[in-house]
Amino acid sequence: MNRVSCPDCDLIIELPALRDGQRAFCPRCNHLLTHRAHRALERSAAFAMAALIFLILSNLYPFLSFEASGREQVMTLLQSAQELYKTGSQVLSFFVLAFIIIFPGLILISQLLVLMPIVLKKRPVIGCRLWARFIFTLGPWSMAEVFILGVLASLTKIASMATIVLGLSFWAYVAFSLCFLIAVTRLDRYQFWRIILPFPSPQATSGQTAATQGLAHCHICTLTSPEHLNHCPRCGATLHYRTPQSLQRTLACLITAVVLYLPANVLPITHTDQFGNNTDSTIIGSAIMMWHHGSYPVSLIIFIASILIPLAKLLGLFWLCWSVNRPNSPLPRQRTSLYRITEFVGRWSMVDVFVVAILVALVQLGGILSIRPGPAALAFSGVVIITMFAAESFDPRLIWDKIEESSRD
Ligand SMILES: [Zn+2]
Ligand SMILES: [Zn+2]
Repeated sequence: MNRVSCPDCDLIIELPALRDGQRAFCPRCNHLLTHRAHRALERSAAFAMAALIFLILSNLYPFLSFEASGREQVMTLLQSAQELYKTGSQVLSFFVLAFIIIFPGLILISQLLVLMPIVLKKRPVIGCRLWARFIFTLGPWSMAEVFILGVLASLTKIASMATIVLGLSFWAYVAFSLCFLIAVTRLDRYQFWRIILPFPSPQATSGQTAATQGLAHCHICTLTSPEHLNHCPRCGATLHYRTPQSLQRTLACLITAVVLYLPANVLPITHTDQFGNNTDSTIIGSAIMMWHHGSYPVSLIIFIASILIPLAKLLGLFWLCWSVNRPNSPLPRQRTSLYRITEFVGRWSMVDVFVVAILVALVQLGGILSIRPGPAALAFSGVVIITMFAAESFDPRLIWDKIEESSRD
């Protein structure tokens, strides 16, 4: 039996040996502790290799081409970031480049560096644990599938004005994001670290929290170790009973996000110049316009991803922070699930920023028709990124600490 601590409620659980295809959940908060898949590391390495090849291919050919009024504009994947840079939106251009190419690329390289020696039964590479940490630290910041949704939304948006051709690189990028998704989801954090750096099970009593026994859960490699060590003996990450200043940091991020949420919705997200006529559109304005044009799916995607999700995430996290400090707050299991949802959905809000990046790169036909990013694009990406930090700073174990405290009193 291996003992593990639950990252969401800190309970020590005795984990039986799992067979292929089996999953283990925390009995208290229902967190998925681990799932064991058949030949997971080999398959993950194979898909990571395929994904890296497709990612390289997707940078070599035209991504999309746009033809209107007898003029054609061809866009490559890199240009989706480059054109933003040229229009003066350097920060936004860096975000797009990082989220769609650099971070997924770094994850794949790290994954191959760690997994290939295991698959080929060779000695591990130098800095193996650093590469392994990279995979899990950068994971939430890689947004390949969100970008694909952004491409589809922007195509529907401009399909009525021009002829659009999907280039070879577009299909390579779709293949990359599918392989990438499989490579990453095959890699179960607990099973992965157990194989690459085996460590004995901690001396702990199951059914009690790790913190009451002087132990801390490592958020990177899942090992439970004595907190006084300060650093995880397996992966080197800093050890804490609870995320330091969790509520203060979460609230600071949330307040910043609220401040940015206003300009993100009031100011224009794009400026369109058509035959000398300038039109500005806001996020809500473009969702309404798409609805009037009959593009209901795109209008709904923009409304849900850009308006509903950020707002629900802000309100949800504010409520979680408030409920944590209240005695006898009910529904800890449901509140933990709400936290997991806010953590999962946040990155999907980037879809509108990717739509802007694609439109700016693609629709550049001089005086006939051209699109530039508006100030709301940067403010909105700020909202998405800061609320992601807010969700990362919130420690769901605080929900359960209060319940334990109340039950002791
Ligand atoms: Zn739990
Ligand atoms: Zn660790």
